[in-house]
Formats: sequence, structure tokens, C-alpha cells
Amino acid sequence: MQITSKLPDVTTTIFTIMSQLASKHGAINLSQGFPDFGVDQKLKDLANHYLQGGYNQYAPMAGVLELRQAIAQKKQVMYGCSLDPETEITVTNGATEAIYSAIAALVGAGDEVIIFEPAYDSYVPAIEVNGGVVVPLRLKSPDYQIDWDQVKDMVTSKTRMIMINSPHNPSGAILRQDDLAVLQEIVEDTNILVLSDEVYQHLIYEGEQHQSVLRYPDLYQRSIITMSFGKTFHATGWRIGYVIAPSEITAEIRKVHQSNTFGINRPLQHAMADYLTTPEHYLSLPSFFQRKRDLFLSAMVDTPFEFLDCAGTYFALASYREISDAGDQEFARWLTTEKGVAVIPISSFYSDGTDEKIVRFCFAKTDELLVSAAEKLRT
Ligand code: GLN
Repeated sequence: MQITSKLPDVTTTIFTIMSQLASKHGAINLSQGFPDFGVDQKLKDLANHYLQGGYNQYAPMAGVLELRQAIAQKKQVMYGCSLDPETEITVTNGATEAIYSAIAALVGAGDEVIIFEPAYDSYVPAIEVNGGVVVPLRLKSPDYQIDWDQVKDMVTSKTRMIMINSPHNPSGAILRQDDLAVLQEIVEDTNILVLSDEVYQHLIYEGEQHQSVLRYPDLYQRSIITMSFGKTFHATGWRIGYVIAPSEITAEIRKVHQSNTFGINRPLQHAMADYLTTPEHYLSLPSFFQRKRDLFLSAMVDTPFEFLDCAGTYFALASYREISDAGDQEFARWLTTEKGVAVIPISSFYSDGTDEKIVRFCFAKTDELLVSAAEKLRT
């Protein structure tokens, strides 16, 4: 039997590869982006409450209504927008499913999708498996800023979607008001959709304000916003994310979502709905992670790694040019197996494998772990 791969170039994701290598060699895992500290006891108690209380059958396809209402309320507080929980919010199996379902619903054969690389590694396969054509714009260190004039030149009659991601994984760069204003100008009077991956919305530092597309009513009319409770509440294994879009777009996304996962786990959705009613649970995140970032960077200051600015996310990028001439894939493996700290090589986020000799450290870890990682790396 012959199987023709629809994704012949795709290999196992770098997050799995590096986490497995870290575990095999007992290395400190600063590669895959997940916290090593626990979920808030209050949230776990709520989850138990709903598990024990009989909330164990199918949730509604679009998500538990109380959760969608709580999300709408949260967006009102954060971004001053008014969303209809019935028609504009869908709870998904993590933001990765949200991104996939949106692309599958809206991108067809031959449609061009402009993405900015380095890009999170699910974007390209999701576009290609649905017949779309990836049009990447390469962003470069140290600041990974988008040159919007170049974007204007890349737009064609076939452009169906532009994907943005702020705060940006892996670079930690953020989009500001001016960026959103130019984007708005580019897509105005076109059929281009904007998919805005905002899973790190709360991880933004130095008092900067996250420029959610939800703050821009005109832009929102053609947009899809994906977000994640896994990232927000240190529960990446719970797989709860959501997608927000105007009702006509949401209706299309739900057609895919319902035949993909139908709906996602119910008791945890109820737990999240209750937990969200206390804004402090998410409003405290920027200072919580900024402190971790600063602790990690100061612990690393006397190593030969050269760190780039990190305005958001829980990732810090560093150049290792002073340490090695090796390619970043090789270097990341060496650091894991020989020095006991696992990182992510940035070339994995470029479809052409661009290698600027930069690796990504995840600082969503306990203080002790960050300090021990720095100790190991000082050698
Ligand atoms: N978003 C996480 C990261 O960038 C990884 C998620 C995953 O492993 N699929 O590290």
C-alpha cells in the first residue's frame, strides 16, 4: 500500500524532540514552553468540584456558556470590547486547535497566507495540509520588527490571510499601535482575513499595553483571535483555548471545530469559568513573569550568552556566537546532552531553516530551577 504524505516535509515537532532529549539526559528543560510550577490550588479545587459534581458528559459544541460569558466579560475589562458569547466565542482544545480550525475553515486550495518567521511551528503545516500557500516574511534579530512596506509588496489578489502573533513566540517582540494601524490600512477594502495569535496576551512587560486586535473594532470585523488558558493559568496540559471572531466567521470555524473535536472537556471549562471571575488571577501575571525574566537574565549575566530584548512571552533569546560556531540544532543538542540544559534552536521556526545562531530559553520555571540552569551554563 502506498501512502502519499500530505506533509512530506514535516518531522516531529522540535518541542517534542527537545523535551524527550532533556528527559533522556536528565537535563533541565528550558525548551518546550510550559511552567514547571503547579496550577493554583483554587483552580484545582474548582476542577475537583466539577469532576465530583457530575459534570462529566459532553459540553456544548461551542463551549460551556458560563465560560464563554466569563471570557466576554474579561475581554470587556481588558480591551473595552463587547462580544456576544453565543456567536463570537468558541472554546477549543488549546489555541493550537483554534488556529487549525480557523485555517481549515477559511483557507482553501491556492490561497496565500502571509506569515512572519520565525513562526510557531504549527502554522505552516496547518496552512499546507489545507492546500494553502505559505508566503513567509523573514524577520531578523535582534528586534524582529515587521517591515510593513514589504508586507504591502507581498499582498496579491490571492492573499487570503495575514497571521500575526504578539507577544511573539519565539522572539519576545511585541506589536505596537503603529503596527496595528498600518495592518488595518493594508487590509482595508480587501478580502484579507487577519488571524491574530494572542496566547501570550498577559505576558507583557515594563508596563506596555497588549495591542489586542480586540481594541480595534474595524480590524476586528475581519479578524480571528486565538487565546489560551494553558499559557495564562500554568495549565498547558488542560488543553483549553478559545477563538474569538465576528459571528459569520465564527459560524465557519465551528463547522470545522464540531467535526474535529466536537467539544472539549466539560468539568475544566466550568472550573475556568469560576476562576475567571477574579481578575487578579490574570492581572497579576505581567509582574509575576517580569520578575522571573529579570531573575533569569541577571543569573545569566556572567555567561557568554548574549541576550536579546524580551518585551513579552516567557521566552528569552540569546546568541551563542561567543561560545560555538556550530549550527543551532547541533548546539541545542550539545547544550542538552553535555551541559544539562535544554533549549530550542530558532532555525526550527523558519521554513528555510535560517540559522542566526540563536537559541530560546523558557523562563516559566521555579526560581530554583532558573538559578540552577544558570549555574550549569556558567561552566
Ligand atoms: N507553545 C509551546 C512553545 O512554544 C509549545 C507547545 C507544544 O509543544 N505544542 O514552546
